[in-house]
Amino acid sequence: MHQSIRHDDVTGKSGLLAPDTTGLNFYRADPALTDLLRVHLDDRLFRHIEPHLDRLGALAGGTLDECARLADRHGPVLHQRDRFGRDVQWIEYHPAYRELEKAAFGEFGIHAMSNARGILGWPDKYPVVAKHAFTFLFNQAEFGLGCPINVTDGCARLLANFGSAELKARYLDGLTQTDMEKLTQGGQFMTEKEGGSDVGTLTTRAVPEGDHWRLHGEKWFCSNADAEVVMLLARPEGAGPGTGGVGLFLMPRFLDDGSQNHYRIVRLKDKLGTRSMASGEIKLEGAVAYAVGRLDRGFVQMAEMVNSSRLSNGVKSTALMRRAHHDAMTVATNRVVFGRRIIDLPLGRRQMLKIALATEQALSMSFLTADALDRAEAGSQDAAALLRILTPTLKFRATRDARKVCGDALEMRGGIGYVEEFATARLLRDAHLGSIWEGTGNIVALDALKRAVGRHGAEAALAADLHARLDDSGTVPQAFRDRLRGLVDRTIGFAREVASRADNEAEARRATSLLYHVTSAVALTWESRRIDAMRGDARRLLLAQLVIDHRLSAQYPFRLTENATQVTIANHLLGERDVGMAEVGELVLAA
Ligand SMILES: Cc1cc2nc3c(=O)[nH]c(=O)nc-3n(C[C@H](O)[C@H](O)[C@H](O)COP(=O)(O)OP(=O)(O)OC[C@H]3O[C@@H](n4cnc5c(N)ncnc54)[C@H](O)[C@@H]3O)c2cc1C
Repeated sequence: MHQSIRHDDVTGKSGLLAPDTTGLNFYRADPALTDLLRVHLDDRLFRHIEPHLDRLGALAGGTLDECARLADRHGPVLHQRDRFGRDVQWIEYHPAYRELEKAAFGEFGIHAMSNARGILGWPDKYPVVAKHAFTFLFNQAEFGLGCPINVTDGCARLLANFGSAELKARYLDGLTQTDMEKLTQGGQFMTEKEGGSDVGTLTTRAVPEGDHWRLHGEKWFCSNADAEVVMLLARPEGAGPGTGGVGLFLMPRFLDDGSQNHYRIVRLKDKLGTRSMASGEIKLEGAVAYAVGRLDRGFVQMAEMVNSSRLSNGVKSTALMRRAHHDAMTVATNRVVFGRRIIDLPLGRRQMLKIALATEQALSMSFLTADALDRAEAGSQDAAALLRILTPTLKFRATRDARKVCGDALEMRGGIGYVEEFATARLLRDAHLGSIWEGTGNIVALDALKRAVGRHGAEAALAADLHARLDDSGTVPQAFRDRLRGLVDRTIGFAREVASRADNEAEARRATSLLYHVTSAVALTWESRRIDAMRGDARRLLLAQLVIDHRLSAQYPFRLTENATQVTIANHLLGERDVGMAEVGELVLAA
């Protein structure tokens, strides 16, 4: 699975310490990414994006990574006045952050790929799978800017889907621009002090005035605080309580005469992670805003943006894991302790395998979910139901795994991994955000179980999809597929049981994890047969086996688990040699 990471030049310079990923091309170092893109995309599109991914991979492992380090160290600063003493608020960013913006928005146009034609010379809009290949590479260098890229994308989508022709004419072009002079970035301000999870408690008021509205209230967490185009929720005067009474509004940063709209960034948050990006508190003092879509469906419409952000969050957490994985691998294969490389020691191998397993699961789940979104947008009802359950499932588990994987990779580097000179400390700080924003762990687990399963019955679409994938995995040993079929049915049954009674709510997280693990095991199996057919490597099936053994089976604490088969599986997964289905099939039957 692993592509050799050799930094002889760096090792030479760094003396006794292991090198890091500096200079690594994150695309070339990731054969699994290439494989999954070839599995999910048509060949013409894959061949079109590959040179661009190669370029982004090189930048992300080089100059963008250095920019990210600087931007993290020199965070944004809020100023209350301009240099002439006028009360014009502005945020000062380090030039390194501006470079990151130029790459993401200007050069690659990641924010616009699903909304505009012609980005990077492709005549159509990109499917979400292709877009998130770029998200995945970019976020391995810089996670903070990942939010502005995603919310700019989300605002454009929301506007395109629900905005009036007039609003679209005014704001859509700026949100999808790759010319940095014309680009207007987006923001999404929902959270108030009363509740981020309990959005229905929000107190921001919208008062009608001619063709627009005036907003009064406070927003408590506003990432990309100086965004030019903001989508937010507010309660129109006279509307009822709860989420049913909130409307969706577009609030521009600047008014038609060029002056700042009537809201103030009160202060910027001093955050644990994503320190490069400005998150602020905002007071709305009669801000001008425009209603988007139907006022009584504000929350439902905003949910569309939240769901695409949840997918993006899953992908970004996967990116953090992949970066941590690369870093841990450079250490494990270069650092010598007690006369041996860490990777050659039994516990070092196991630690590395744990990092790799969670990372590869998340990669498969990210692209499976993105593919469901693409198929749902093309009109498939089954894919829409699948997406409904996959999105919170991915968001729940991948963001939580990222915390652990980034922590484990940090520890692999030893004490110096805890020091801010290496990326590991930043990765760990950033990783803790994924499971908070766009819904905390509890909220997304409840979404998966209570709503996707309990209300929409989306688990039926998942079960059908997983069985179809197993049917379609012909060269994988039958006994292995039968075992997985049984696990799929038990997991779906358990999810239904949990969803069926309010008393079972405390089991929602466990059930969501099981859904994630069984889905990833099937996806890995299905992919292994395809990749084997493409280039004679079926090792993703070994990952599916590990998911079954370690995530879907009861563990008896007093039984020895390490045997010759397990060691062979680990060595194959951590090695570079392709292993075909015949050999892999025998291993999973012996395991
Ligand atoms: C760096 C950062 C940037 C952010 N940027 C934005 C932004 O741009 N726009 C925006 O709108 N928001 C943003 N947020 C806010 C974020 O989405 C919220 O913080 C999050 O949704 C949680 O809401 P809360 O802070 O009000 O916590 P609460 O909702 O008060 O939650 C507190 C705890 O209660 C738990 N809880 C809540 N409900 C339940 C339940 N039913 N069952 C069990 N447990 C429950 C939660 O899981 C959590 O552990 C940002 C947050 C951070 C940290």
